Amino acid sequence: MTNLIDGRAVAEKVYLDLRAQIAELKSKGITPGLGVVLVGDDPASRAYVRSKDKMSRELGLHSVKLELPASSSQSELLARVEELNRDPQVHGILVQSPPPKHIDEAEIVRALDPRKDVDGFHPLNVAKLAMGDPTGFVPCTPLGVQRLLIETKIDIAGAHVVVLGRSMIVGKPVALLLMQKTKGGDATVTVAHSRTKNLEEVTRSADILIAAIGVAHFVKANHVRDGAVVIDVGINRVDDKADKRGYRLVGDVAFDEVAPKCKAITPVPGGVGPMTIAMLMSNTVKAARQLRSL
Ligand code: NAP
Repeated sequence: MTNLIDGRAVAEKVYLDLRAQIAELKSKGITPGLGVVLVGDDPASRAYVRSKDKMSRELGLHSVKLELPASSSQSELLARVEELNRDPQVHGILVQSPPPKHIDEAEIVRALDPRKDVDGFHPLNVAKLAMGDPTGFVPCTPLGVQRLLIETKIDIAGAHVVVLGRSMIVGKPVALLLMQKTKGGDATVTVAHSRTKNLEEVTRSADILIAAIGVAHFVKANHVRDGAVVIDVGINRVDDKADKRGYRLVGDVAFDEVAPKCKAITPVPGGVGPMTIAMLMSNTVKAARQLRSL
């Protein structure tokens, strides 16, 4: 029988643990702080920033939310990042992606203090992930995927993991994370993408299939072998007149036809999504500890 992986329940478990860590840090006079910068008024980005700020506050973190107009220049944005880099009350910083087109996002990421880069996109943190250095920050969605697998007791070590997608945000880091020679790693990882030949054959060889391509319902029953574990990272909008927003969110996996074949599968929404924000909070607490050498 298919086992539904409940991302909300696992995220709650993460928060329970974080609340204890935060209380311990506060007893030592340290309140972990998160600075979130939003440039422009993209509705989806706005919603993400709002929920990050809300969760920070719910956990009792110090939360700084900077909302800058879409017309902000590169140098103005760099100056705000520099302020947050210097702010001793802020331990984690993220600049919500994507910024407006005139902003050079790579330069902004390089300007972050890597010790506060809780999104894990700074080149130093990318290198630390590749090198297996645990002091680095791993991007939140891949970290959430790994935590979901661990918490639901899915064997990662020795499993054949196929990652569909090779982005710097999901595909590449999740592949690096699961192949690490450590607990929660030791998988045999294949990364597939839009140029992969015989894609169905590749994905059907997966014990664990991680779909992160951004194409609604792309993964069909014939991509998945019986008894596989499927992690659906995709968040895609499809028109839905029955929904008051006029759309609904679906994953990269055609859930209804794939789920009956699976040993376990994540739903969308309610799977990987809640874990991403939980891991952001977790990275912020880690940053506070590391900056204070605790
Ligand atoms: P992305 O940067 O657009 O990368 C997509 C990847 O999928 C690329 O490597 C691309 O291959 C590959 N791809 C696209 N179409 C393909 C096809 N037909 N066959 C095989 N490979 C294909 O996307 P992303 O940022 O990684 O995001 C992927 C999905 O995850 C999106 O739906 C996004 O919204 C979602 N997401 C969710 C969370 C969360 O919190 N749950 C967080 C981040 C992203 P090429 O490299 O060859 O072009």
